[in-house]
Amino acid sequence: MMGQVQKPLEEIMEYLNGAKKIVIMGCGGCATIFHTGGVKEVEDMAETLKKEGKEVLAAIGLPFGVFCCYLPMSSMFVNQFEKEFRDCDAVLMMSCGDGLQVVRSYLEKEKGIIKPVYPANNALGFFGEGPKEFLEKCQGCGECEVGLTAGICPLTQCPKGLLNGPCGGTRPNGKCEVDPEKDCAWVLIYERLKNLGKLSLLKKIHPPHNWEKALRPRKLEVEPIDLLEKLKETKKVIQSLGI
Ligand code: SF4
Ligand code: SF4
Repeated sequence: MMGQVQKPLEEIMEYLNGAKKIVIMGCGGCATIFHTGGVKEVEDMAETLKKEGKEVLAAIGLPFGVFCCYLPMSSMFVNQFEKEFRDCDAVLMMSCGDGLQVVRSYLEKEKGIIKPVYPANNALGFFGEGPKEFLEKCQGCGECEVGLTAGICPLTQCPKGLLNGPCGGTRPNGKCEVDPEKDCAWVLIYERLKNLGKLSLLKKIHPPHNWEKALRPRKLEVEPIDLLEKLKETKKVIQSLGI
């Protein structure tokens, strides 16, 4: 999921300087998990902005599981608050930059609503695990290497992103020369390959990464899912788990 942190309030207020009527929109996906745009954070932000003298036309907290970045979901909420979006001076998006741009583009292209749209958050990239501690795992490079590196991403776990490590600076205790608190990614890869009986993979030279596969912006086309059916499936699975 997209790891993110909220921007300092001063930065947000600087964006909103001169704008009186504000629409706030959160996200029921990653921003809820990272407490940067769930229903509660949206309500809190509305209170804060009111205290700062703003008029909050709408504070749209999306329920958990409703993603800003997935247009079939977020567009339903934009449609519902179309008048407020039309009347506002600025939109504050409590999502990642992905969700922000999906909503901004929908407002402009589908509704003809052209407003300043500001980010409340800083997105940091893909993170996994939880519920409390999250770690960056993958950079979405477009050419996954972990089949040869024991399921550990050298691009992400090594600060130098070395595909043919280690760098030579590994500390005697197996920690990274760049960050003494962190295990050297290539020591971890070595240990895990050893346990798997696949140390011979270390002799394989990884050719330079083909960054052409990560040229931005990338585009994907997929068969659209049946949203309602998927939500029903999720409900069934949750019920079967007795949650
Ligand atoms: S090699 Fe690393 S960055 Fe690239 S796709 Fe695999 S896990 Fe992600
Ligand atoms: S010590 Fe290991 S993790 Fe740190 S930069 Fe060198 S190879 Fe990468």
